Amino acid sequence: MEGCPTPKPGVLNVHLVSHSHDDLGWLKTVDQYYYGANNTIQRAGVQYILDSVMEELFRDPVKRFIQVETGFFAMWWAEQNEEKKAKVRVLVEEGRLEFIGGGWSMNDEATAHYSAIIDNVAWGMRSVWGREAYLGDISRYLVEEFGDCGLPRVAWQIDPFGHSREQAAIFAGMGFDGLFFARLDYRDKEQRVVNKTMEVVWHGTEDFVNDPTRDLFAGVLFNHYGPPPGFCFDILCNDVIIDNPRSPDYNVPRKVEEFVAWAERASGGFRTKHIMATMGEDFHYQDANIWYKNLDKLINYRDSRVEKFHSIAPPFGRYVNEERGDSVHLLYSTPSCYLKAAQEDTSVQWPEKTDDFFPYASDSNSYWTGYFSSRPTFKRFIRTSNLFLQTIQRFIKKDVVSEKIGKQLGSVFPSTGSEENLSQMRQVMGVNMHHDAVTGTAKQHVTDDYYRLISLGLDATWPVVRDALKSMMEAGQTLEMSRCPFLNISWCEVSERENTLILTLYNPLGRPRSHPARVPVPASENGDAPAYRVYDHTGAEQTVDVMPIPSPVLTVPGRSSSAKFELVFLASLPPMGFANFYITRADSKSKSGDLQETEVMDDNTADFTLSNGEVSVTFNGKTRTTKGMKRNGMKREFTQELLYYISMEGNNSAAGFRASGAYIFRPNGKDPVSPGEPTRTIVYRGDVVEEVHQEYGNWLSQVTRLYGSSPWLEMKWLVGPIPFQDGVGKEVINRMHLDMATGGKFHTDSNGRESLTRTRDKRDSFTLGEEYESVAGNYYPINSRLFLRDEGQGTQFTVLTDRAQGGGSIHDGELELMIHRRCLRDDAFGVGEALNETAHGEGLVASGSHYALLSEVNEGMDMIKEEEKRIFYEPLAVFSPTTMTLQDFTSAPVNQRSLLKTALPEGINLLTLENWRGGSLFLRLEHFLERKDNGQPVTLDIKDLFVDLDVVSVEEVTLDGNKPLDATKRLCWKTVSQACSGAEGKLKANQNTKLNTVVTLEPMTIRSFLLEATVSNVIES
Ligand SMILES: [Zn+2]
Repeated sequence: MEGCPTPKPGVLNVHLVSHSHDDLGWLKTVDQYYYGANNTIQRAGVQYILDSVMEELFRDPVKRFIQVETGFFAMWWAEQNEEKKAKVRVLVEEGRLEFIGGGWSMNDEATAHYSAIIDNVAWGMRSVWGREAYLGDISRYLVEEFGDCGLPRVAWQIDPFGHSREQAAIFAGMGFDGLFFARLDYRDKEQRVVNKTMEVVWHGTEDFVNDPTRDLFAGVLFNHYGPPPGFCFDILCNDVIIDNPRSPDYNVPRKVEEFVAWAERASGGFRTKHIMATMGEDFHYQDANIWYKNLDKLINYRDSRVEKFHSIAPPFGRYVNEERGDSVHLLYSTPSCYLKAAQEDTSVQWPEKTDDFFPYASDSNSYWTGYFSSRPTFKRFIRTSNLFLQTIQRFIKKDVVSEKIGKQLGSVFPSTGSEENLSQMRQVMGVNMHHDAVTGTAKQHVTDDYYRLISLGLDATWPVVRDALKSMMEAGQTLEMSRCPFLNISWCEVSERENTLILTLYNPLGRPRSHPARVPVPASENGDAPAYRVYDHTGAEQTVDVMPIPSPVLTVPGRSSSAKFELVFLASLPPMGFANFYITRADSKSKSGDLQETEVMDDNTADFTLSNGEVSVTFNGKTRTTKGMKRNGMKREFTQELLYYISMEGNNSAAGFRASGAYIFRPNGKDPVSPGEPTRTIVYRGDVVEEVHQEYGNWLSQVTRLYGSSPWLEMKWLVGPIPFQDGVGKEVINRMHLDMATGGKFHTDSNGRESLTRTRDKRDSFTLGEEYESVAGNYYPINSRLFLRDEGQGTQFTVLTDRAQGGGSIHDGELELMIHRRCLRDDAFGVGEALNETAHGEGLVASGSHYALLSEVNEGMDMIKEEEKRIFYEPLAVFSPTTMTLQDFTSAPVNQRSLLKTALPEGINLLTLENWRGGSLFLRLEHFLERKDNGQPVTLDIKDLFVDLDVVSVEEVTLDGNKPLDATKRLCWKTVSQACSGAEGKLKANQNTKLNTVVTLEPMTIRSFLLEATVSNVIES
């Protein structure tokens, strides 16, 4: 910030920010955008933007530019020669080229899980500030490439469709000074302009409202993220300043007055003598000269050559700084220079904010709540691929340690290459967090490309998993391991083909668990249920149910599997470790329970119940729909239905004609349509699980199940192909209703972390006015949890999800989640396609699970959040054929192993463990309970966590890992509740952790550490 321009005191300073908004895929793929291909769709080539901007910056020291999307910058940087790189480094040092935002992509804030957001931003910052990017060179990190000046300090989320509080907390944890964005509810913005609350101090965590280290300065941009009307100077625009007075089109006086009028109007929403003008738009600056030349003129342009040419005595123009400099001053600036200038005005007391910016409405009928659920299978694929990355990043511990031993022995170990593969996967996941990727709002061909990238990433990192598991097993080198990517539709080649196999389950969670494993198998020769025996690593035979696969699953388009049944058993798994199970086909059942099968026929009238002793769900015998739920003495009416809204059609010519589409959810009518009573209902009662299989016509079905003694009710839905022959779009929901008095209140997660309370038809920070969209306007992004409370009754009803979805409570006592949507109209917000997904020539089929719990309010959120972590950290399943006998198997040296010495304490999650520079390890520990969940501070010794690792030293760093916490300074902001001396504040390092391995985690905190470690057991055979 030392290199910031000097504002003019006493006048309105307009900070002109030259920027380009470059999507990592939307209408074109990432590569097409970078290279400028496929320009008939959109004229956009990011490589030209960077080429062209740099030349302008090299030429004139006054010019500035901000670079946002690290993913694109990395592509460009990899192509530059050393000479060019040296010149660019100077620009960064001088603050004229400023990295901002930091993320590999500008991530979505509604449908992204917090672990993936942290990774996206942290990876981007690691790449910009360092040079990991596309270079695969991890020997030169960080400061060596751009120095301190390369580290972004301002978040720039100008296009995501609404903003989450967790995202603000994440940026604060990374040491950012501020956040700027554009999209918020139109009424909220109107009121903020009037109340001068366009800029606020946002409290990122409810548990730490009085702790400035958790806060983030957040500012709304005045004119979306584009230039003031009439000042768009780009090959993609038509504005220009014509400054030859002899020209009949001479427009300088008018332009000057228009700009000044805009600036004065804009400044009405802000509290200091500074405003920002965003001089750029989507894919602008492909010919940067157009922008800069006209901005020069606007600011104060006099060039003797021009003057000579026009033969007019200088000054011939009337430009802003010259003409109106007594009231308005224009300067080339950047968001961080703007922020510094605003912060230096110590007379201002900043307003505060605690809620978030969801849902985003751009007009009375356009609620951007459809994208919370758009492309449900893609969202699930991203969720599981993110988990895969989270899981495998931890495996590389051994590599680092080996390298360290190598160094200790004075030799250099060859790279295994696994770090490069991981980097590829990190980039892929960064791309997919983009606000047109995971949101489901890119064109179909672009989404196909996102799938391609993830598949490549998974292929590249699969050997990391295989090798890590083999090395943990020691004698496992002979196993031929395969993954089964289609387990969600009960399809696995190895388990279908082999009579004897080993199932390896790796539990990424730091706590032991009992996991319901399901292994697809074919029928016996006569078509009946086959007999299998399953043994754990000690040779103990497991209780197994052989459950028929529901017939709607068997007919999912594209499924080519011989499996007709699934083996179901409860696998006991160690914390952060694996266990092997020996599975073999048998002649007769042994410990396999006798499955009772009852089809509920049309003439049935008796109620029936699904029960496991812990919880029971009663179905109405006549309608075969749920009617009641009982648990721990609580007894509630309970109905659960799959329903669908009819999508609104419209020509989008005005708010009232908005169609439902990829971004927008707009149902035609308040009430969803029921598909009617189940057309088929079969009840299965086994020893491990009880299930009700139900079909509703030919495109909706559900399995409702209870495992073991779990209090959680699973609803596994299968939807599609959604019929469209009737010409109407359909948006399918799972709706649950209980007799609970909820007073319009319900609770959602924020990116899978903190809980936020929502009130139907109300916003905490602005007046909603008359609501025209009573359903869509009450939808919120759900990453993992949605719950209701009846304080009078003392009961709570919670639903956990397996992916991002939209959801809300439209009536008291009711929750709904949108699980699939097929819209036949575009909603005219840019993508230009209807959200009409197909696969294998038919409408896309989606399946997934909801997990529901009836609990007492004071039973505690801890059991809910523990289950939520179990759902997120689903075990990794690996299948290997084997010729081993059971005796061989049980005498194999390692069939079960944990990387932890003991399970992590309750409420604590190991969020990250990965390689870091110089052989260090990067560890993030998280306390996932809130104070309002009765979360208590937890103290643990990092030395006591890991098997085989001697932790020598621990240093606390920022959430992104790039800076020691005690060396991090942030701007402070004066509010009603906080003083600020005007000096820079500090992120709080609460102890000298350099030597102390004992750390305390407060509720709702994430703490990040760099570990120096050696292997405690160096004896190698
Ligand atoms: Zn965008």
